[in-house]
Amino acid sequence: MTEVNEKHPLELDAPRFSVRKPQTRIDKQGTLDDRQRVRAALAGFARDFSRLTAAYMEACVHCGQCAEACHFYVTTRDPKYTPIWKLEPFKQVYSRQAGPFAWVFRTFNLKPDVTIGELEEWQELIYDSCTMCGRCTQICPMGIDIVSLIGMARHGMFEAGLVPHELWAVAVRAEREGSPLGATPKVLKERIEWLADEHEIEIPLDLASAEILVTLSSIEIMKYPQSIVALAKILNHLGASWTLRSDGYEATNFGMLSGNVQWQRDSSLKMIQAAIACGAKTLILPECGHAYGALRWQGANVYGKPLPFCVLHISEFLAENVRNGKIRLRPLGKSVTFHDPCQVSRCGGATRAPRDVLSGLGVELREMPSTGDVNWCCGGGGGVVTIHRADELRYKAFEIKMRQVEDTGAEVLASSCANCRQTFDDGQAHFKWDKTMQSLLELVAGNLV
Ligand code: SF4
Ligand code: SF4
Repeated sequence: MTEVNEKHPLELDAPRFSVRKPQTRIDKQGTLDDRQRVRAALAGFARDFSRLTAAYMEACVHCGQCAEACHFYVTTRDPKYTPIWKLEPFKQVYSRQAGPFAWVFRTFNLKPDVTIGELEEWQELIYDSCTMCGRCTQICPMGIDIVSLIGMARHGMFEAGLVPHELWAVAVRAEREGSPLGATPKVLKERIEWLADEHEIEIPLDLASAEILVTLSSIEIMKYPQSIVALAKILNHLGASWTLRSDGYEATNFGMLSGNVQWQRDSSLKMIQAAIACGAKTLILPECGHAYGALRWQGANVYGKPLPFCVLHISEFLAENVRNGKIRLRPLGKSVTFHDPCQVSRCGGATRAPRDVLSGLGVELREMPSTGDVNWCCGGGGGVVTIHRADELRYKAFEIKMRQVEDTGAEVLASSCANCRQTFDDGQAHFKWDKTMQSLLELVAGNLV
């Protein structure tokens, strides 16, 4: 159960990073000293203070319920993993700078100034031990949106150059090359040509006009290219007018995960502009969790007005076509359990869609003990899967997931997120588990009538 998998999930096609490198901070501006870092973090935190954040900061009644919702606390019982505690530096800055009694806190030094040491220590809590799964937010009786606050805290940490180095590296690569795993437009074109040739299937790229713009996760492009073939098979089967575009194909958003608001915006705008350029009425997001949150729920804010097209997660697109009878499927004849990607189900609201698809596949659906929008996270979201030093903690969280799956006794394990899939694949190899995660999209493509 404890043997370590040699290949990290993001090492396959990503730049090779040294494992457990002790570096804890990235000197993003080259010459920042510690005092400047603290100032940069404080400015970053303060920029996000609003009436809503103030209400959240004041509302905590210290009931501790969020702790029981967090897989990192539940599997370690370490109080430092209590979700609201992860925000302590953020709260400290709020109390001294923006709270109603800020002058009292400052005058009597009731909450000391945040130090560089504290911020470095907090890096693990803000990044390594938060998958941004939203379970704590959901459980908090005071309605405190803890996960949004963690997202805001990441903005300040980014400003100070305190992003874990692997997450920083993939975020930089995404901004510079357009893809965190090196799936540049050239690589995409080569892959598409290869897949189209190998599978004798049409995969349109860069059409000037199409009803549907399809986007991908770089994990699919580099690690699960069979997903692209599945997608093409289904869309061609439907006779859809669709295209991929080399100016807006990458749906993952490492700007959002690392805490760089501008990079988050850049990634989203590429897809938005590509959809507008080809006149798409629908933009389909891939089997990726955080991509859904970034564009479906934050895209209009980035764009500054309502998006002129509809945004659907691929599971929603499939469900729509299963419901209206355009996709008919051969019965799978097996029992299946479904792992809900946190960002699609709990945080995104698309919980029913995959179940309707599974119903179309005629499966016996065996729900996990805690499922749907109260599912347990796989442990790899929020950029955690990129951070090597978090592996041990991530594997602990994954044990909850394995127990859940085993409890169902289902023959097939499926999900609809490539990041969850690679976290499961890595967990399977680490624990020598006999369950392999299946993609919902690929199950549909393989059973089209
Ligand atoms: S968002 Fe998820 S991982 Fe992060 S603190 Fe909350 S429950 Fe824990
Ligand atoms: S559940 Fe909400 S109110 Fe209770 S400790 Fe956590 S953040 Fe505070």
